[in-house]
Amino acid sequence: MSWQQRIQQAVQQRKEDNLWRQRINVASPQGARVLVDKAVLLNFSSNDYLGLAQESESLIAGAKAWGMGSGASHLVCGHSSAHQQLEQSLAQSVGYPRALLFANGYMANMAILQTLLKRQDSLFQDKLNHASLIDGGQLSNCKMQRYRHNDVEHLSHFLQQKPPSNLALIATDAVFSMDGDQAPLAELSNISRQHDGLLMVDDAHGFAVLGNTQQTGSLAEQGLSAKDVDVYMGTLGKGLGGYGAFVAGSEELIEYLIQFARPYIYTTAIPAALASAMQDNLAIVMSGERQTRLRQNIDYFRQQSERLALNIMPSTTAIQPLLIGDDLKALAISQQLQQAGILVTAIRPPTVAKGSARLRITLTASHTESDIEYLLASLVAILKSVGESAYGA
Ligand SMILES: *Cc1c(COP(=O)(O)O)cnc(C)c1O
Repeated sequence: MSWQQRIQQAVQQRKEDNLWRQRINVASPQGARVLVDKAVLLNFSSNDYLGLAQESESLIAGAKAWGMGSGASHLVCGHSSAHQQLEQSLAQSVGYPRALLFANGYMANMAILQTLLKRQDSLFQDKLNHASLIDGGQLSNCKMQRYRHNDVEHLSHFLQQKPPSNLALIATDAVFSMDGDQAPLAELSNISRQHDGLLMVDDAHGFAVLGNTQQTGSLAEQGLSAKDVDVYMGTLGKGLGGYGAFVAGSEELIEYLIQFARPYIYTTAIPAALASAMQDNLAIVMSGERQTRLRQNIDYFRQQSERLALNIMPSTTAIQPLLIGDDLKALAISQQLQQAGILVTAIRPPTVAKGSARLRITLTASHTESDIEYLLASLVAILKSVGESAYGA
């Protein structure tokens, strides 16, 4: 088979499987409303949970102070005092001694797993973990096993089978990105301790969004602290509305990553202007006002969808998916919603398991109650028209 045949066949197969993906072109800044194909759409698709992505002042101020680029990697001359200060503020915001900035969450996860794990180690991951954790595990060449979603007994079974001399690392999303539910972090911490393991938590959807004004993220949300979770990863592209990521941990862990993490060492530092802007956004986030508005929207959405007997998946976070199952049906409903002026992405395999296509509805602090009412009313009408069983189930 030639290269051309291989590429054509794969693309053709993708279309036949109804898994063809297309990008929309957004012609406005992010927000509760976005401009797509000259139409204003009510946006229930973004991870900009606190409505910060459209802000520009802090970035403009950062660019005035620092210019555009960072000029080099962190270990050469790209590490500015803006990066340094942001690392300190991030560490403090999640209650860890130190933090280390990365270009994005994907690379941070690569770095953690690839750097820590050696061939003779054992890695245990939740079945529904984000693709970047799975990829990072594969790069590490260690033995990787995936336990059933949030099933601590299944994990325990794996841990008991592991040769006692192998070091174990347990990795989990704190908030699962396509389901919106949360990992039982206290239980995972206990079991990790019993086996002298290292617990790593990916808090892409919890950092800046969950927790309280003293400490942000899923640990605070679940009444835990740095002593319960060895490695914490948070991203700056979701709740914080910008771009980038960080790993928080002990002094030794961070120094170890600075010395050995290839995705840290061999890449250009994020712009200092961005680091400075993220510092400002963090201060906004820690005041807690936007989280309060988001929480009110989540409560309102849950209450109204229950009243309408909509079968929304069990979640108390900003991610409120409606399970459809069939890929084509999910796509059709998403398209009808768009005709009604609403943007909700249909999530299909391989992002989710086969037969579990869904509409991934995300709420933000920028939505109003009437936005939510319009979404739910439209959803009910469309589901009825397609005879969808998710309605009234
Ligand atoms: C988005 C996401 C990432 C990747 O973060 P980026 O900064 O977008 O690369 C990692 N893990 C989870 C769970 C995510 O949802």
